[in-house]
Amino acid sequence: MIRFFNTLSGKIEVFEPLNPGEVRLYTCGPTVYDYAHIGNFRAYIFEDLLKRFLIYSGYRVFHVMNITDVDDKTIRNSQAIGLSLAEYTKIYIDAFFEDIKTLNILPADVYPKATEHIPEMVNLIKILLAKGYAYEKEGSIYYSIARFPAYGKLSKIKPEELKIGYRVEADEYEKDRAHDFALWKKRKEGEPYWETELGAGRPGWHIECSAMSMKYLGETFDIHCGGVDNIFPHHENEIAQSEAATGKPFVRYWLHCHHLIVEGEKMSKSKGNFYTLRDLLARGFDPMALRFLLLSTHYRKTLNFTFEGLDQAAASLERLRDFQIELETRTFPEGETQEVVDIIKEATQQFKEGLSDDLNISTSLTAVFSLVKKINLLLQQGKVKARDALSLKKWLAEIDQVLGVLPPPPKELPAEIMEKIKLREKARQEKNYALADLIRQELLEQGIALEDTREGTRWKIISKRKPFPL
Ligand code: AMP
Ligand code: ZN
Repeated sequence: MIRFFNTLSGKIEVFEPLNPGEVRLYTCGPTVYDYAHIGNFRAYIFEDLLKRFLIYSGYRVFHVMNITDVDDKTIRNSQAIGLSLAEYTKIYIDAFFEDIKTLNILPADVYPKATEHIPEMVNLIKILLAKGYAYEKEGSIYYSIARFPAYGKLSKIKPEELKIGYRVEADEYEKDRAHDFALWKKRKEGEPYWETELGAGRPGWHIECSAMSMKYLGETFDIHCGGVDNIFPHHENEIAQSEAATGKPFVRYWLHCHHLIVEGEKMSKSKGNFYTLRDLLARGFDPMALRFLLLSTHYRKTLNFTFEGLDQAAASLERLRDFQIELETRTFPEGETQEVVDIIKEATQQFKEGLSDDLNISTSLTAVFSLVKKINLLLQQGKVKARDALSLKKWLAEIDQVLGVLPPPPKELPAEIMEKIKLREKARQEKNYALADLIRQELLEQGIALEDTREGTRWKIISKRKPFPL
């Protein structure tokens, strides 16, 4: 039984998708006006963990993530550097796809772009106009929040806090400015626009997600995610638009992750604590350590990013990788040990229980590392047999379907590296330890660590990292 905290009800609820065995998931994607920062990746990795866990639990997941390639920010920035909107956003769309690959985030089934769904948005706005939820004012079209009595149900704004009769043009605004908001913005000189039945103009941000989510997932779907900053106004407005248009519940479970802050403070360019994935990669950090760090704090807790934390994440990951290498490279005697069978069973159960409990990743990671500790001890005692090693490898692959942090087990190294390892072996046999150490150091700098064991020299790939700060 899987349970999630639903922002809509404010409670932990048992998760049951609309269609048995199938989950329809929408996650608010990037606004492509800049490189995604590590806060954005906290949201995308939480969503990836959620999706991977649902798949691990046997669900088919149909995932839609939009790309917001037209809004106030993309227009402002493209104009500032004199590129067309499409030229400008392409830079960040490409970067986004590269980044999610680097972080081993499973791709969505569809990535609809806002600029390619203008007819769907126009259609939705026409329905809202026809039903009296929207009105025109000086060429722009606004949503009338007073017409939708349930307005505020997600963000818990009380009716008396609503600023009835006021309008806001901007896509983003604070909760204490709960105004009528723009669905369609009249063409402005110098801004991109579309000639439509609503007149010349462009869509507001909120209508984009309502139109695109319902197009691909239906009028009612299972899960909608984002960061907590999306709750108001974005998701509140999505509900107002969609439910007013269809008369049906829009989303059944709303899941929001809390923010990532840096060294205890909000990330901001002026404070110099603002990091994109690319900043961290340029400093030599291992993207999988960042992935591990971002997923290892429960999504409903604020995540305080520190470089110390990133180092700790890298160390934990290294323990897991060492364990994997140990299983891959050792030879084991025939047979099976009941103790190992029991340890795997217990860890699997705890791993599942943790994540089923509103994605309680701490419990699941405790299960993983306690298995590693127990098995390492048995390995030292020579109690792990061939069948156990196979089961353990299978188990690792299974939990990594959810965690997504382990590399595929390395089978072979490039020939010139293997040559060097042999050369070092020879130097050792000839007791030329100076040369042997030199080669070992050289390999270490290339990210290959050597370990001399009774069974011969073993190698492993380690993350190369420049010390921080630079
Ligand atoms: P944006 O590109 O600004 O529309 O944001 C994309 C996603 O990142 C949204 O789901 C946001 O809620 C989320 N997000 C933005 N900043 C943070 C942060 N500091 N921590 C966690 N999530 C964030
Ligand atoms: Zn959205």
